Amino acid sequence: MSSAIRYSKSIGTEDFEREVTIEGWVQDVRALGGITFVIVRDRYGVVQVAVPKKKVPPELFAAMTSLSRESVARITGVVKKSDQAKAGFEIVPTSMDVTSPAQSPLPMGVVDKVSVEPETRFDHRFMDLRKPEVRAVFEIKSIALKMIDEYLLKNGFVEVFTPKIVASGAEGGATLFNIDYFGRKAYLAQSPQLYKQMLMSTGLDRVFEIGPAFRAEPSDTIRHVSEFISFDAEMAHISSMRDVLDVLEGCVQYTIEGVAREAVEHLTKLGTRVRIPRTPYPVITYSEALEKVQAQGMALRMGDDLGTEGEKALGQIMSAEGFDVYWIVEYPEEAKPFYIMEKDGTPFSYSFDLDYCGQEIASGGQREHRFDRLVQRFEKKGLDPEAFRFYTNAFAFGMPPHGGWGLGVERLVQKMLGLPNIRETILFPRDRTRLTP
Ligand code: ATP
Ligand code: MG
Repeated sequence: MSSAIRYSKSIGTEDFEREVTIEGWVQDVRALGGITFVIVRDRYGVVQVAVPKKKVPPELFAAMTSLSRESVARITGVVKKSDQAKAGFEIVPTSMDVTSPAQSPLPMGVVDKVSVEPETRFDHRFMDLRKPEVRAVFEIKSIALKMIDEYLLKNGFVEVFTPKIVASGAEGGATLFNIDYFGRKAYLAQSPQLYKQMLMSTGLDRVFEIGPAFRAEPSDTIRHVSEFISFDAEMAHISSMRDVLDVLEGCVQYTIEGVAREAVEHLTKLGTRVRIPRTPYPVITYSEALEKVQAQGMALRMGDDLGTEGEKALGQIMSAEGFDVYWIVEYPEEAKPFYIMEKDGTPFSYSFDLDYCGQEIASGGQREHRFDRLVQRFEKKGLDPEAFRFYTNAFAFGMPPHGGWGLGVERLVQKMLGLPNIRETILFPRDRTRLTP
């Protein structure tokens, strides 16, 4: 706010009997005849403005009493100690300016107790976000992203930005969005996979990117959207996949602990606490995970995707053992993309998922850096390596061993806060049916 305008939370006893100016949304107007109370809300809280009919000019009293809900008003007045007001003070106005009147009726209420359909909320997201508990998620998400940045920069990673308009996908054709690129076929990037790997051949040997990823997800689930923020990293000169797990584990733990410490005010608004996961995160192989869920009666066979239900069942088993976050490693190579390294002599691969309370939040692995073996993997997957020449070239002229991950930022936030749907962590979510606002 401009220096002349005060936030609700900045006003205290030192301001008693002094004049201040506030600006915010008119949350409520209670006209009791001889006195009108106006509740004004800003980013951090509310202020009670008391307007006694006998003590303020008649025009001001009339204007304050007829304010429409959710209008923006700038109010100057004297701070008075008050035992009735929640904050311990109220403001008696000397002047008021309606900087932006709100029409009525409102498309939805901000403080009403009636529950509003999610579709209505997302249709009028600007209004929905006026609720402190809805907004708190984004304050927390911002703090989480700061933690990720901090951790990686401390660990020698360089932040990079790769193209979002691309000529080929890396994660399978089914979820590609087509676009017309000056008459040529192009796609919105599903992930920075190919580019971050190409960077491993340059000497920028530890990179990360936090940016949008696009997936044409055809189904409606609580964890898929068409546009999400992907936190990708790639690191070279590794000795095994464990080097990658160590960095990601350190980063996730640092982020969760940082949020628990620094976002207390916002967590309180949300009415939740963050549970600190137990470390080290246990490592279970895909085969062990399969056995665990089979023992629960799930009909999954070797090679099957664990799926939503399998992941959930595993989450329950792990949480009973005291673990919220855990690794699932060595998936069948058949289930993994061309860029993943095979575990020779077995049907498995150097791949991993990181799961948080029964839901995948990240996938990664050691990559195939050997040119010939990479070409073989393209062929095995029925892909034409020539179509990926811009990528394979980087492997033909000196590519160190490397690995990395892609983590869905919104999935991390969703699980950290125990939110029922990923959409709650996205300001303007995009899904199969939603393209506006
Ligand atoms: P899932 O099996 O849950 O659909 P995935 O294995 O297809 O995910 P990856 O390609 O491994 O996803 O992407 C890396 C990470 O990006 C995932 O672990 C997840 O956190 C996030 N992610 C992937 N797709 C989506 C999506 N549609 N919406 C939100 N986050 C996503
Ligand atoms: Mg995955």
